[in-house]
Amino acid sequence: MYETATHTTTARRVGCLPAGPVAVTVHRYEGGPGPTVYVQAAQHGIELNGPAALRRLHGDLRSAPLAGTVVAVPVANPLALDSRSYLTPQAYDARAQNLNRAWPGDADGSLGQRVAARLWELVEGADAVVDLHTGTPDMLEHVRYPDGDGAARRLAAAFGAPHLMGDDDRGEDADGDGSTLRAAAAAAGVPALTAELANSRRIDPTAATNGATGVRNVLRELDVLEPSPADAPSPVRLRGDATPTRADESGLFELRPDVAVGETVDAGEELGAVYDPATYERRQRVTAADGGLVYSLARESTVMAGERLAAVARRVG
Ligand SMILES: [Zn+2]
Repeated sequence: MYETATHTTTARRVGCLPAGPVAVTVHRYEGGPGPTVYVQAAQHGIELNGPAALRRLHGDLRSAPLAGTVVAVPVANPLALDSRSYLTPQAYDARAQNLNRAWPGDADGSLGQRVAARLWELVEGADAVVDLHTGTPDMLEHVRYPDGDGAARRLAAAFGAPHLMGDDDRGEDADGDGSTLRAAAAAAGVPALTAELANSRRIDPTAATNGATGVRNVLRELDVLEPSPADAPSPVRLRGDATPTRADESGLFELRPDVAVGETVDAGEELGAVYDPATYERRQRVTAADGGLVYSLARESTVMAGERLAAVARRVG
């Protein structure tokens, strides 16, 4: 049953620094009976279009009839945001610098693991999770969901991003201490999606609007917001199991000028080269490890051996 939401804001303590506690702001919009949806942004401190999207959504959620509850954390990692840093600075946490590899967290662990554990309590109480991220300008806007999770796929498709990627949630998402929020939520039976909006480091009004529209679409799909007659356009369906292309050698990476995100490359196709900046020697002829649609490219030209230079995804369906 739809009821105008009651909005509350609380400061949730997530950890403690030497000088005192760290808290995150939690918005709770509670309407009539219905599912609880957990939405968070800015796990990575330079990904600002997530908080900007939630600010745009805030007015709607306060005034629209809701059947259910929306719990929104616009800045999940204030330590990284305040430092204008992608990761949590090492001074705060040398162990779990990437909050999005620390889920479901550890209440007795490092600061990042404690932050994740405190936020995980909100995730466990939810029926669906939306995690807002952004990529570099050289990444296609897309939504990811765990491959084989039908409920997550339905919500991811409803978000309405131009590209929809099923991910096997292995490889880069797995390490000893934890996993992505998406993978941890899926393992706990909570359907979760990751939205990769455009443009880290700055507010892009289009990306912020797309993020707000996407969350609104997910809430409509779950009938938390009243349905809208407009259907989202069909996305390009992708599968994120292709092998990324990496630097074998450190140096300066020069990308072939006509390669861009959104293009299709073949396995083995030359993508550029890594040079020794001092002797000019070519250290690596970079070829695509796999074929597919290029969705992410390295643009910061100083590369270290092992770093990802390009990521492609296969089209499906
Ligand atoms: Zn991110």
